[in-house]
Amino acid sequence: MKVPHYQNIVILTGAGISAESGLATFRGDGGLWEGHNVMDVATPEAFRRDPVMVHRFYNERRKDLFKVKPNPAHKALARLEGKHKGEVIIVTQNIDNLHQLAGSKNVLHMHGEMLKVRCRQCHQVFDWEGDTSEHLACPSCQAKPALRPHIVWFNEVPFHMEEIEVALYTADLFVSIGTSGAVYPAAGFISMIRSMGKAHSVELNLEPSEGQSLFAETHYGKATKIVPAFVDKLLKETG
Ligand code: NAD
Repeated sequence: MKVPHYQNIVILTGAGISAESGLATFRGDGGLWEGHNVMDVATPEAFRRDPVMVHRFYNERRKDLFKVKPNPAHKALARLEGKHKGEVIIVTQNIDNLHQLAGSKNVLHMHGEMLKVRCRQCHQVFDWEGDTSEHLACPSCQAKPALRPHIVWFNEVPFHMEEIEVALYTADLFVSIGTSGAVYPAAGFISMIRSMGKAHSVELNLEPSEGQSLFAETHYGKATKIVPAFVDKLLKETG
């Protein structure tokens, strides 16, 4: 039997890959994110209406990052990138830093990063580990209030879209991990892959996502089990 050899692998990840590290998913807990309706913490309108509450919410989420570690699923993807002879790109919807901590280098954060903030005046982006508030001045232009989380909120345009589209066009394997398939544009990537008809597609998730019928191959279970098993099989097959 001919073993498929994939050159360009694109991996889309969502909150489910970080769940077993201890970070809550978007729609866990009865549709709430850490007890909040997402529209109250993840929209530009919410930030305009109540910046104090939104800063507080992301300050808490940022603190969470210092309590968690990458799990075997993140580590398996880093191993894949290190051993695969072609290209591996992780396109993540996650705003945590667990892929990088696991050792992945080629990571595009389409929804931004918790450990960065941006100035609303001069648009400069800064690495940021502490809290933010409306009392802080921009370290560059000194505007105040100025800083906001470097997160893509609902109704905002995701980052790196051109690069992601090029990666999807050249992919011959597309793997979607731990995402509900409910947040666009990421939820539409599988339709793009299908319409080009070139890449094999795989869904790895706890349960079938909204787009599950579009995937050629599906495996359901906890990410820490099914992702390392998938990566080991792939590396064995493709050498
Ligand atoms: P989601 O919460 O909508 O869906 C999570 C998916 O992961 C679900 O389909 C669920 O069945 C699956 N899942 C849960 N536990 C799992 C496990 N142990 N193993 C495998 N799969 C598991 O998440 P999404 O689709 O990524 O939603 C997108 C938004 O959530 C993004 O905008 C992202 O910024 C935000 N978010 C990110 C984080 C993070 O950075 N860790 C956390 C919460 C929310």
